[in-house]
Amino acid sequence: MHVCAIAPPSLLLRLAEAGSESARETLRVSERLRGRRLAVARALREQGVGVPPDRPGVTANSVYDVGGGEESALPGTLVRADGDPPSADTAVNEAHDNAAATLAFYRDEFARESIDGRGLDLVSSVHFGQRYDNAFWTGEQMVYGDGGGGTFVAGALTRSLDVIAHELTHGVTQYTANLVYESQSGALNESFSDVFGILVKQRAGGIDAASSDWLIGEGALDPALGKALRSMLAPGTAFSGDDQPADMDAYVELPADDDPRNDNGGVHVNSGIPNRAFAEAARALGGNAWETVGPVWYAVLTDRLRATAQFADAAAATIAVAGERYGEGSREHDAVRGGWDAVKVVPTPDPR
Ligand SMILES: [Zn+2]
Repeated sequence: MHVCAIAPPSLLLRLAEAGSESARETLRVSERLRGRRLAVARALREQGVGVPPDRPGVTANSVYDVGGGEESALPGTLVRADGDPPSADTAVNEAHDNAAATLAFYRDEFARESIDGRGLDLVSSVHFGQRYDNAFWTGEQMVYGDGGGGTFVAGALTRSLDVIAHELTHGVTQYTANLVYESQSGALNESFSDVFGILVKQRAGGIDAASSDWLIGEGALDPALGKALRSMLAPGTAFSGDDQPADMDAYVELPADDDPRNDNGGVHVNSGIPNRAFAEAARALGGNAWETVGPVWYAVLTDRLRATAQFADAAAATIAVAGERYGEGSREHDAVRGGWDAVKVVPTPDPR
């Protein structure tokens, strides 16, 4: 099991090697969480936190304050229960509102009720650790550090809607394709989180495919590091040291081992390839990407991929779904094919 955190491990490692105490601490906690994940989940279940309701279709959105504590203190004290008025704490309100926007996106666009499709109560905990520079989905709940340790701008982790939608989409993936978090299937897992992360942000802001900056976490990184965590349209250009390839010619082979430098076989590295395929397809079509290619990617994530799917399988499945949905040879069918062509992924001949 993997804890999906927003900060790319290669970036944290580089900062840690350059002497950042905060980056070192963030990595240390991430390593510990990986081992503790099941214990955290069990503790949450014992408290009745996050469990699906008896009646599907009612999703509570509640926020806890873990008060600078770490995993043994999760979820913390309930500070904003579902339906409560806003709190005096900005982080609490941002965690609440951005989770609500993500829930509304999945409900309104895809008739999906919550992360699991059955109304799983959404739990967020803010103020994790001391200036902790990460946010993550544990498999059961969202957890936010305050940032401000040299990687993220203070407060940016709860403020960034696409970051939050990215993390919550790891939950959607966990309940659907459950893509294995290593190498190409892991890079697809990361990419689906970026795809729905940007779509939630575009829809909330009324931003069409042509006007979107296609940046994930724009303004969240410390400005000394760069403008964003990832660029979906121009992978490798988001921050200094961004090592994302833009197509298969530059695919980065890394071992899927326990060494954090290898990023589970490059899941945050090679995700640039399917990210760009999506962005290119969306831009070729214009209009609102959540209404054009978004539904194609959603159908593929929830219904068409094996857990071990490779890029070629995702290409074949999205092209097939675009053909079924919009017609063979339609603009949409051509645009999706063109997106994968641009990144030099050859679809598997028989996707089923
Ligand atoms: Zn992720």
